[in-house]
Amino acid sequence: MAAAYEAALLVDVHCHLTAREFEGHVPRVIREAVEAGIAVIITSGLGYMDALRALEISDYMRVYPSIGIAPYELEGYEEVLELIEGERSRIVAVGEVGLDYWRGDRDQRSLQQVVFEEFIDLAKSLDLPIIVHSRSAGKYALEILMRKRAERVVMHAFDGNASYAARAASRGYMFSIPPSIARSRQKQKLVEKLPLENLLLESDAPVLAPSRDEINHPRNVKVSAEWISRIKGVSLEEVEDKTTRNAVELFRLRV
Ligand SMILES: [Zn+2]
Repeated sequence: MAAAYEAALLVDVHCHLTAREFEGHVPRVIREAVEAGIAVIITSGLGYMDALRALEISDYMRVYPSIGIAPYELEGYEEVLELIEGERSRIVAVGEVGLDYWRGDRDQRSLQQVVFEEFIDLAKSLDLPIIVHSRSAGKYALEILMRKRAERVVMHAFDGNASYAARAASRGYMFSIPPSIARSRQKQKLVEKLPLENLLLESDAPVLAPSRDEINHPRNVKVSAEWISRIKGVSLEEVEDKTTRNAVELFRLRV
């Protein structure tokens, strides 16, 4: 088993350790991830209360918080903006924030856009990366980000067109790949199109597991790495090494 120990340490750039599914066993989930070679977990708080819990969980070694809000539940978003400002030195990113045209109803879309822009402005002014949710709205989210000249960007679980993604990647935008790549042709195509320089690993735990109806865990970023390695025809070590480097650089992590 020596090979497992020699492998690079991985970074899960996006998950939700505050989710109900993990209640009461967060330390175990973190320990299992560490044993699987995950060096850093970025947990994302959604909305004010959840963000406070994410900050608490981040007292564990290797867990860093990011703070955002679900685009389809924007009530109280002003308090989330204030919390981000107040906790700017503790958090490693703003997010997830963005657009959700799948869940949000049509007349809510302009509000989603306005709020998204406010979070982009804040992330830029604090010089923090922004983790973007863009379900069924990839093209629109990218348009807004580019128009606002956002630079430190992670498109998480991007479900849009791979050629839009490639255009964004040429501007330095990063794409984090969830373990659901195992059952998503669209995610596989995304990896085919994007250079390794623009890829990161995420679990989005407890959702987006390798197989449907399974609770996802941060340790499953290994599955993402394996798929990237297979699709790109490069060694697993190279994928692990490069995606970790990408994450360390983007989030300015200490590992
Ligand atoms: Zn998420």
